[in-house]
Parts: sequence; structure tokens; C-alpha cells
Amino acid sequence: MIQKIAVIGAGTMGNGIAQVFAIHHYDIFLCDVSAAALANALKIIEENLHRMAKKELIQADNIPTVLSKIKTTESIEMAVNGADLVIEAASENPAVKAGIFHKLDTFAPESCILATNTSSISITKLAAETKRPDKVIGMHFMNPVPVMKLVEVIRGYATSDEVCNAVMEMSEELGKIPVEVNDYPGFVANRILMPMINEAIYTLYEGVAGVSEIDNVMKLGMAHPMGPLALADFIGLDVCLSILGIMYEGFGNQKYAPCPLLVNMVTAGKLGKKTGEGFYTYATGQKEATVSAKFLKAQ
Ligand code: NAD
Repeated sequence: MIQKIAVIGAGTMGNGIAQVFAIHHYDIFLCDVSAAALANALKIIEENLHRMAKKELIQADNIPTVLSKIKTTESIEMAVNGADLVIEAASENPAVKAGIFHKLDTFAPESCILATNTSSISITKLAAETKRPDKVIGMHFMNPVPVMKLVEVIRGYATSDEVCNAVMEMSEELGKIPVEVNDYPGFVANRILMPMINEAIYTLYEGVAGVSEIDNVMKLGMAHPMGPLALADFIGLDVCLSILGIMYEGFGNQKYAPCPLLVNMVTAGKLGKKTGEGFYTYATGQKEATVSAKFLKAQ
């Protein structure tokens, strides 16, 4: 039975994952190399829980109990001691994740399932860092984790049926809807989403239309809740570039080549919402994002 969970990486996704497990009464060890990231994660989780209580999604009286379920540490060894399931949600960097999987395999109990929240890195490759490839699987939560229903469950080449079924059941217990897919670059979600985002950036780059025009066409014409350029800003332009790079390399197909405008924006540090500017500008205290001045000129 899965009871003790370790979450490695306490950034955007790691804190959301820890929050969802804690609400569902699991004991969590949240681990990050950065003490500041851990402190920030606890702050964000507490703020989110109060927001949920205001919306009557949880009882305010339960907040201290939920928070008491989450312990933090900078040591992977301590985090995975006695764990039944580890979810790795550290930075999207193949070398970083390979190093983490090597450690997880060394320190986690033999029976422990090792899951990764990677957006695009091969599950089979991460499994090859371990002596238990049958117990390695992708558990790809969507952002924001407490809100989004989907968990893309990715079977590596050697993932066992037993492990896959356990992760599918666990996702349902968390109130999510798991969908099982196979391990090829971008899996399903990003294989379809990223070419659309990249094409939207090419459409802007080639001067076919401006930022708000492109987003409005997709919102009003295709009933997408967000336009692709706003979505790229929300995900992080560095994350989009890294996923496209992995698909480009993995398939060796020109159709995944990242648009030069995306490359330039990432090089210039305009990463979207998290840096305050991407295709839009996000001023603190301002509710609505406005199109970045850089792109107003071109329109
Ligand atoms: P983030 O940059 O917000 O957080 C990553 C955290 O990992 C940081 O706090 C960093 O200090 C920590 N970290 C780095 N190396 C570590 C190590 N060796 N051990 C422990 N912690 C370490 O990133 P994020 O957006 O939360 O993404 C995390 C993972 O989730 C990535 O694999 C990403 O592709 C995936 N993902 C992201 C999104 C999204 O929209 N942001 C959506 C789905 C999946």
C-alpha cells in the first residue's frame, strides 16, 4: 500500500504535488537542494490552502493538519527513507534528473516506485540509471496541480503492469483522471501542444499577425481558454524551448525545430510570466497582462 511519499524538487510543480497529496492525508517529505525553495513552497501551500478554504473547497479548521503532513529536507537520503512512492519534480535538465535517479535507486527501499513529473525527458533513459527499471514511471501532473485533472501516466519500456496500475489507482485517489501513454519524446501532451505553440511563435515571427490577434484567433475560433502565446508565457519560454529541443533531437525531424524568435527571447532572459515579460508584460499589482512593448512595434 502506498502511504509515504517523497517529492523531490519544491518549485512550481513540486509544491503543488505535495499540497494535493497532503490534502488526501498522505505523509510527504518535500526535498529540494535550496532551503529558500522549501520555505517558499510551504508559504505558497499555506496561501493556497487559505484560498481553498475561502472558496469552501476545504475546511479552514483542517489547514494545520494538512500542513503538518508535509515535512521538508535538503537531503534526498532522508526524504526517501521508508518511502513507498517518490515523485521527482526537479528542474527539467537530463543530467540533474539522471543524478537524482541514481541517488533515489541507492537510498529508496527496494519496493519503492520511482516516478518523474518530467515534461519530456525519456522515462526509459531515467530508468536505465537504476537497478529497478520495472518500477520507474512518468507521473506527469499539469500546472496548476491542485486545479488540473489530468495525470499523464507514462510507461517506460520496462515499466511493469503492477507499477502502472498502482500509479493509475493512486492518481484516481487524488481526485485526478489518469491517462496511460507510452514513452516517446514529448509523450502525448507536449507532442501536440508544443508544435502548436511553436507555430504560433513562427506566425508572430513571420509577421502574419500580432500577439493579441494570434491569441484571439485561437481563443475565439477554437474555444481555447488561453491563447498559445499567453500559455507559452505561463509555462515558461525556457521550458517550451527545452521540450522542443528534446523532441527535435529525439525524432530528428525539422518540424520540431524551435522558432529563432523563441531562442532569442530565452537567450535575452524574457522567459514569460516568471520573469515579468515574455510575449506579454506582467506588472505586479496589475490584473491583466499587456502585450510586451517589443511586439507592439511590429503590429
Ligand atoms: P521549477 O524550476 O519551478 O522547480 C524546480 C525545483 O527543483 C527548484 O526548486 C530547484 O531548486 C529544484 N532542484 C534542482 N535540482 C535539484 C536536485 N538535485 N534535488 C532536489 N531539487 C532540485 O520547475 P517546475 O516548473 O516545478 O518543473 C519541475 C518539473 O515538472 C520539470 O521536470 C518540468 O518539466 C515538469 N513540469 C512543469 C510544468 C510547468 O508548467 N512548470 C508542467 C508539467 C511538468
